[in-house]
Order: sequence, then structure tokens, then C-alpha cells
Amino acid sequence: MRLDTLIEGGALIDPVAGTELVMNVGIATGRVAYVGADAPDAARVIDARGLCVSPGFIDTHMHDEELDEPDPIQNSLLLQGVTTAIAGNCGTGPLIDEYAPRRRTPWLKLAYQTGHTVLRRTVGIDDIYRPATAAETGRMRDLLRAELARGSFGLSFGLEYAPNTSPQEIDALASLLTGLPERWVSVHIRYDGPRCLDGIREVIDIARRFKLRLQVSHIGSMTAFGYCMEAVRMIEGAKADGVDMTFDCYPYDAFCTFIGSAVFDPGFEQRWNKGLVDLEVATGKYKGTRMTPESYTDLRANDPMALIIAHVMNDSEIRQCLAHPSCAIASDGILHGGEGHPRAAGTFPRALRILREAGLSWPEAIRHATSLPARMAWLDGGRLVEGAPADIVVFDPASLRDRATFADQLAPPEGIAWVIVDGMVAVDHGTISPKPAGRLLFKTA
Ligand SMILES: [Zn+2]
Repeated sequence: MRLDTLIEGGALIDPVAGTELVMNVGIATGRVAYVGADAPDAARVIDARGLCVSPGFIDTHMHDEELDEPDPIQNSLLLQGVTTAIAGNCGTGPLIDEYAPRRRTPWLKLAYQTGHTVLRRTVGIDDIYRPATAAETGRMRDLLRAELARGSFGLSFGLEYAPNTSPQEIDALASLLTGLPERWVSVHIRYDGPRCLDGIREVIDIARRFKLRLQVSHIGSMTAFGYCMEAVRMIEGAKADGVDMTFDCYPYDAFCTFIGSAVFDPGFEQRWNKGLVDLEVATGKYKGTRMTPESYTDLRANDPMALIIAHVMNDSEIRQCLAHPSCAIASDGILHGGEGHPRAAGTFPRALRILREAGLSWPEAIRHATSLPARMAWLDGGRLVEGAPADIVVFDPASLRDRATFADQLAPPEGIAWVIVDGMVAVDHGTISPKPAGRLLFKTA
């Protein structure tokens, strides 16, 4: 058999076996067709000597909500080595009928969960503070059932954004996933800061009662105010008890969300023990400034979709959390008009660097970005063995680092040589192929 591509002489990282061995990797028709020391004939040879060859990174938590915009978020993730990303998190995101026609040819493999807040809006609930009626809940249930039948990856809640969501409303929706293979519920929990452990308790209870997998989203931004490792201990305790729980984290001590959301309702300064000066406006006319009482009032009233970066979490807790063996790296990347938080462009190289600094080997660090999230999302990937999808990142272990900053949010990382999606070279030394290599993913099970 003639290969389409042979990646020659790189150190193949196997996050499952925990090995890093010089091996050639052959690709044919979008799949890994050869792994070994020989050099079978190939139409294209990529010289990876001195570089690492890793499975493509899998981002189980990002946002792709601005469907009418040109889409810098996909490209920012792709340039970091992300080959599969899951949108529709924190209760937001489009429904299948909205994204399927507009995302026919994504730049990477792209999947969506169905957001609870979107279901609420679709049945006419515009007030984020109002619990749904029984009739509205029934209509949301019908909508979600249809989404799941058409291939949605699951259900996401953003309980902090819809803070009075009732247990009945949650139960009616979550229960639809019981027994449904390969689907899960992701939750941005109800509270950040001092009450976050109540939020963790609430979602463990949902997973336990409905026997479903539940992913605690961006656990760092909810709990790294002195509670992060206790939250992780609670999750691990529930797992030891047979509850199916997972969690993810992004490698920054600042979070980012919309100024108009309930997160910034009065009381946030006390909750985080920080002031307006710790809040940085990331988009719009105040971009780059620290918040003042005037800009807070103006933005809340007139630009509620403006993104705010809140420099409020504890860095040491974030680092400790990332290094926990159960913690998946996920970006929570979100942009508004192409502006936002550097996590959209820097998460994976930055997290890998933090894990290396914590003493993990390359295969151990890479596991947090590949085989672990693949297992969390029941994805066919995360390891380069014969028959696996040819989703591959070739990077320079010496120079890999993030360059995105709060001032230069979309600066691509350094050290990524090639990114391959379904066997096609999608990025060659920082240049994205003009032909999108991705596709939409749907769950068919
Ligand atoms: Zn969230």
C-alpha cells in the first residue's frame, strides 16, 4: 500500500502507553495506516526529526456562538494543535438547525452540545432569573430530545447564568440522557467563590440520580478561590462511589465572560474578595482598560455582550488542578467580534508547559490533552495507533510555548510545526491551509 503521508523520524508520543519513541507514522485515507521503524513509500514525507509527534489535541469545552462572524476561534484553536473541539457549553451555543448549515466546512473537527439557556430562549424565556413553567419545561424536553436524536453530543448547563433554574427543570432535561450512549451533561456550576462546593454537590447529585456522565466545566474559574482541591476531592470521592464525573480546566488565573451576565450582578466583589480594578474590559470601546464604576454602569446598560476578563483566581490552585491525573485541558475559548481572552489562542501550549514544569513527562502531559479528553467525550482518537484517525500535532518540545497575552489575545503559539486533521495538513508552520480540513461531528449511537 502506498501511503498518502509519512511522518518520519519524530518522537511518537503515546499517552496511553506512556512512551516517547522515535517511530515513523504513515497516513492513508485519513487514518493512521502504519506505525514503525520502516519507511514505506509515501506521496509526501514530513521530516519530523528532533520533533515530537502527538495525537491532535482535543478541546472538550469551547464556544462557537457567533455563527455570522468569520470564525477566528476555530483558527486560534487549530494553530495550537487542537484537531477536535466541542462547542455549545455553559448553556449557550446554537441549535443544530442554526449551526449545521453555517458550519459545513469547519477548520477542525467540530461538535456541539445543546445549551440549556438556548432551549429556554427558544421556548420564549427571555428573563434569565425566571424559573421555567411546567409547560415550558415540557417544550424544552421535546426540543432536547430532537437535538439528541440528530446527533448533539449532550446537554450543557450554565447554572450561574440562569441562577434560579429549578431542580425540576434540571431533572426533566438531564433525565433524557439516562441510558443514552456516549452523551453527557456539562455544567458551569451554579456558584463560583465561597458557595462553589454547594454547586459541586448539586451536580454530583444529578450524575448520581440519573446515572449519567457529568463534566464539571472550567473547574478552576469556579473554585480556585481557596476551594479547588476540595472540589476535586469531592469529585474523586463521588467517582470512587461509582458516580461518573469528569472535569476540565484552563491554565489562567483570570476568567472571562459577558458583563451583562448574572456573574456580574451586585456582590461579585465580595464573592471574589477583589475590586473593579481586577476586572479588565476585553472588547468594545473600553477594551484594555480596568473597570470603573462609570464603565461598569455604562456597559451593563448599553453593551451587555462586552467581555470582561476577571483577574481573580489563585494561580497556584490552577496549576495544582491541571496536574491532577483526572483533569482535562480545555480552553473555554470564547471571542466576541474576534476579541476576548488569550485562552482562545494559548491554552494548550501553556497548559503543557505548566505540566512539564510540574515534573510530568511529555506522554503524561500530553495525556491531559488527548487520550483523557477523548475518553471523556467517547471520541475515536487521542492515540496514534493503526486505524486511529490521523489527527496529529508535530511540535518542537524545546520551543513550544504560548504567546497570546491579555494585550495580544490571538497571538499564535510558538513551536507547532504541523497540525494534521483527518490526514490533511491543516497547519504548516503557522500557516493555515486555505482548504478547511475539518468536519462536523454528530453522535450516531
Ligand atoms: Zn462557563
